Amino acid sequence: MRKEMQKTGFYWQPLGGNNPDQISGHCYQYTVVCIKNRKKLSTTILVDLGKYDNHQALGIHNSVAAVPDIRALLSDKENPPKALLITHSHPDHLNGIIHYLRAGYTLPTIYAGKYTFMILFDLLREYHIPGKNWPKFRVIEANKSLEIGLFKIDVLAASHTCFDCFGFLIKGKGLCVYHTGDMKMDQSTCFRPSTNIPKLRETAPEIDYVVADFYGINNDGLAIREIDTYLQLVKIIKLQKKKRKVFIPVYPTHPEMYLIAFMAALKCRKNVVFYGNLDFFTYLKMIIEYGISFEAMAGERIKVLYSHNEEDLQELQNNYVVIGTYNEIPDVFDLSSKSCYAIITAATYFNPLKGQLNLHNIQFATVEKFPELQGYGHGFWGDIELLNDIMARHPVFIPTHCPVFMIDDVRELASYCRVKLISDTPKNNQIYKLSKNKAELVSNMTAKWLVAIPSSSDGVDFVEVWQKPTSGLGFLKRTISRRRAQKRFKAFLIKRKRSSYDAN
Ligand SMILES: [Zn+2]
Repeated sequence: MRKEMQKTGFYWQPLGGNNPDQISGHCYQYTVVCIKNRKKLSTTILVDLGKYDNHQALGIHNSVAAVPDIRALLSDKENPPKALLITHSHPDHLNGIIHYLRAGYTLPTIYAGKYTFMILFDLLREYHIPGKNWPKFRVIEANKSLEIGLFKIDVLAASHTCFDCFGFLIKGKGLCVYHTGDMKMDQSTCFRPSTNIPKLRETAPEIDYVVADFYGINNDGLAIREIDTYLQLVKIIKLQKKKRKVFIPVYPTHPEMYLIAFMAALKCRKNVVFYGNLDFFTYLKMIIEYGISFEAMAGERIKVLYSHNEEDLQELQNNYVVIGTYNEIPDVFDLSSKSCYAIITAATYFNPLKGQLNLHNIQFATVEKFPELQGYGHGFWGDIELLNDIMARHPVFIPTHCPVFMIDDVRELASYCRVKLISDTPKNNQIYKLSKNKAELVSNMTAKWLVAIPSSSDGVDFVEVWQKPTSGLGFLKRTISRRRAQKRFKAFLIKRKRSSYDAN
């Protein structure tokens, strides 16, 4: 075990998630060391093992992925990780598993929800990982507790964009950390339980730290609620004439949008055609296998099609919604400005589609005009404040899931809103010793990504690369603008000060 963690205590280390920029590659270590009957005991667990999306920008020829560096932990003979807990099924939290297995590593037992395992098993098959190399699997559920070595862990539901999303109350050595996972405070989620506020309220006096999903700030503070996305969709669809088809492209990995779009179509009595790329259908299949029946929801009220042959479409007489992931609409849908309308539910992802719509003079609604259309499953500043209020302003917040500069930039606002932030800004690979009265930085080494390149044996080899900013480079050109975030924090602070002045 690392020399910095020899003393008794509760240690926390981000390995991916507190990045210089670009949000992905999540992985966090929790370790407890204590003395019992004069014997030193320790337990280490990991939460999430995601992939870093912007690997091409790290400059390694032939790269297929990048992952957080947990090699030292895996080879620790004295205290190897006892468990890998997965918060949810998104690639930036899950897919690192695949690349470690492809590189020939043995992983600890994986604890995750049913839906997460469905996605993971699909990946294991896709990458031909032989069964003998699979780790052990344990299915976990919200409202259940686990005992893993010196840790006691409560599993909590979290409002995010897929099924079986969890947060964890991680308890050890008299300390309790709420690891939120990806989540917002929204209580209007459909087909799955939302963030468990009653449980958080009940446990509040015990919770010392919140390792929190922090996605920045939007205009009125809180993340957009699912019910508002649904209502906005219904409103826009209702404005369309009966004989007009409506295209609603959705993000492939966000099942909640498939369902919200479907329910909005149903509410407006428009038939539904699912159409999209392989990714879309893989997820759609998984949603159905998970137990969602679109036919049962539709009843006799609307028709549901999974194919798009001409005769079937003609029967619907243009009264339908096309839900899917696509950047091009084929001729069979007969594009014309009179008979078509589109609702684009993401800011940049469907840009090529917008080009095609413009070419055919087809009107479309955008996220810029209707911000409710893009449902985020993440914690914005308002969600953090609400969480803080629920916990009676007691815990210290450790923001994650954001570029580290965001933590520096939100400090002034945090102190005005009486949200206690960890005094240092944690960066990947640093180790903190957490106790009731302080979070002490005990190790400060720069972090690496491991870039995966194909090996001769159908697996991958890892190449180490220092972590560095990659915005504007590589496949993921999407940049989180520091200036824009700073401006928003400032504006929000001014608004808040003004409203408190008016109230007085
Ligand atoms: Zn996620």
